[in-house]
Amino acid sequence: MTAAAAKRHAAVRPDAVRLGAVVPPGPSTIDLHSHTLRSDGVLTPAELVRDAAAAGVRLLAITDHDTLAGVRELRASGATPPGIEIMPGIEINAVIHGRPELLESEVHVLGLGVDPDDEALEAALSAQRAARRIRFELMVERLRRLGFAIDGALATLPETDDEDALGRPRLARALIALGGALSVEDAFERWLSRGRPAYVPREGLGPVAAIDAIRKAGGLASLAHFSEAARLRRIVAELVDAGLGGLEVYYRSFDQPTVDSVARVARSLRLVATGGSDYHGDRESYAATHAGLWVPPEVEAPLRDAIALAHEARGVAA
Ligand SMILES: [Zn+2]
Ligand SMILES: [Zn+2]
Repeated sequence: MTAAAAKRHAAVRPDAVRLGAVVPPGPSTIDLHSHTLRSDGVLTPAELVRDAAAAGVRLLAITDHDTLAGVRELRASGATPPGIEIMPGIEINAVIHGRPELLESEVHVLGLGVDPDDEALEAALSAQRAARRIRFELMVERLRRLGFAIDGALATLPETDDEDALGRPRLARALIALGGALSVEDAFERWLSRGRPAYVPREGLGPVAAIDAIRKAGGLASLAHFSEAARLRRIVAELVDAGLGGLEVYYRSFDQPTVDSVARVARSLRLVATGGSDYHGDRESYAATHAGLWVPPEVEAPLRDAIALAHEARGVAA
């Protein structure tokens, strides 16, 4: 937000500004980070697109974990409402070993504008999904041993056959149903986070391989929700050397000081600023999440330029 806009809003919402919350100067037309039922969100791709369009979003990246199924499904249905563009995207939870400063030994890399038909990317994602299924089963086994009737609770959740939906949020929802947690966050804090009793470390692609797969598929690799970018700038810089091209500056749950500090890192490393809601649908409607989202329209042009370059480089390499 500009200083003038901040001042204007300070007059209207002094409480929010004092607490450091981002106060959107208007409805965001861009959301570059969202999840559907094809990974660990709760809305179908069509429902998400409908709600985003209704909220005023004109450019929506669907960035499910390790799968482009939702993007392909929308494309096949041809049912995208007019006035909204769907950007194919992906979120890869990349494993980093030997970095104790990272809370969960992983960083999340968004791939924006990837070609949903890229075979090498699909192969990498398929291996990620297999690792995800194994990890999920190991965590279920731990919860069983902890005395939870976890199998029964999982059976009551919306049905899913594919490993794409097998994330910790699904276990969290089962734990809530069993009275083992009050909320998804609570379930993570009590049981599912690193150091908690049901935690099993992730295996899979490292960040360098993830970034490489995204770039070769014509996408911009952007580091997601890395609130500690300033303190851990060295990690970001290493990823830039590996081909990282963006940094998620305008993340829905960042407060304004965090947005500002991540933006400074993006500028200093010449990274494209991206932003999005990371909407999963557990706590509130898309409209409610969107009301607190601010992704400035200026984000779009550099993003499109970077994706066009990535597609060009791919053409040259092929
Ligand atoms: Zn993430
Ligand atoms: Zn996400």
